[in-house]
Amino acid sequence: MTSKLPNVGHSIFTTISQLANEYKAVNLSQGFPNFDVDPKLIELVSEALKKGHNQYAPMQGDFELRETIAQKIESLYGRAYHPVNEITLTAGATQAIFTAISAFIKSDDEVIIFKPAYDAYEPSVILNGGKIVPVQLKKDHSINWESFKAALSSKTKMVIINSPHNPSGAILSNADLLELEVILKDRSVIVLSDEVYEHLVFDGQRHESIARYPELAKRSLICASFGKTFHVTGWKLGYCVAPKELMQEFQKVHQFVVFAVNHPMQKAIANYLKNEEHYLQLNQFYQQKRDYFLEAIKSSRFTFSPASGTYFQLLQYDKITDEPDIEFATRLITDYKIASIPISVFNHNGIDHKQLRFCFAKTNQTLDKAAEILNAI
Ligand code: PMP
Ligand code: GLN
Repeated sequence: MTSKLPNVGHSIFTTISQLANEYKAVNLSQGFPNFDVDPKLIELVSEALKKGHNQYAPMQGDFELRETIAQKIESLYGRAYHPVNEITLTAGATQAIFTAISAFIKSDDEVIIFKPAYDAYEPSVILNGGKIVPVQLKKDHSINWESFKAALSSKTKMVIINSPHNPSGAILSNADLLELEVILKDRSVIVLSDEVYEHLVFDGQRHESIARYPELAKRSLICASFGKTFHVTGWKLGYCVAPKELMQEFQKVHQFVVFAVNHPMQKAIANYLKNEEHYLQLNQFYQQKRDYFLEAIKSSRFTFSPASGTYFQLLQYDKITDEPDIEFATRLITDYKIASIPISVFNHNGIDHKQLRFCFAKTNQTLDKAAEILNAI
């Protein structure tokens, strides 16, 4: 049998989490919070279950939730997406990404991906017969726009951007988005913008959603995730927004991938999302977590520059050892009982800058334990 994904095994998140469990390591690897969900949100789910929202949701998603998402995007980013035909609820951002790629990428189409890149993009492109054109980010994880221009060709069908960026925590600036707009001006390239960390941007900086840039928004699909925003990664609920011509194609695929997604959870979130406090305070909440973690490890031998967004912090370890990052990450689990994610797996050709990714979406108690270990390495 020939595999459609010959170079793919279990993802790094599965591999490292299994090892972390086996060695009972403090787990700062896979990105998920280890604190409780707001009890109000749980109550709303239970209410939705009792009220009988237990059958299929509409294919596009619960209408009230689509309306609330549209209002949220308009008030934050100034663009009006129509709830009737420009928004679809998905099984996490993962399904939104897979569906968006499947709806537009066919054999021999080229898709530009900035590396390091979140691991879901590449297999989705390959399964659809497309070709990845990787563009390595600069060492500070900003985009080299000259390299991007050089990567464009007559076959380029899509570019995938991700800000705030997993795994680096870097964010795109207003100048970056304007540059992208100018470069793509006379080309028919679709932009897939992965904005799952839109509410996790620090130090007073602004999230530059594609939705703020009308010329870019016309050619873009934006993916988001309630898992990140409401500390419920296990719910696997997200959405995609796009102008109706693009959304029409997206929904053609969506209806045959899942048809519709979890109904009672959508009902609960439709209600919860109406209160903007439930997401606007996240920046501050996670900035405090980042600062707590960095303060606790400041006397360690790891070096870092604070993440601008996401709940991930990169730590540089070249002052400690010159081991490859996968080896060092593995040894940190087996010998020191702390789990992180090696960055080379997300890089072009496995480039290794001796960096590990640590998730700080954890209780202060867990961060204290992690810091104690890291300070002793
Ligand atoms: N994009 C990025 C950048 C992510 O980090 C993740 C995972 N958390 C996803 C997409 C997938 O999100 P979801 O869990 O909602 O499928
Ligand atoms: N997005 C999460 C991370 O980057 C993991 C999601 C997954 O396990 N696929 O850690």
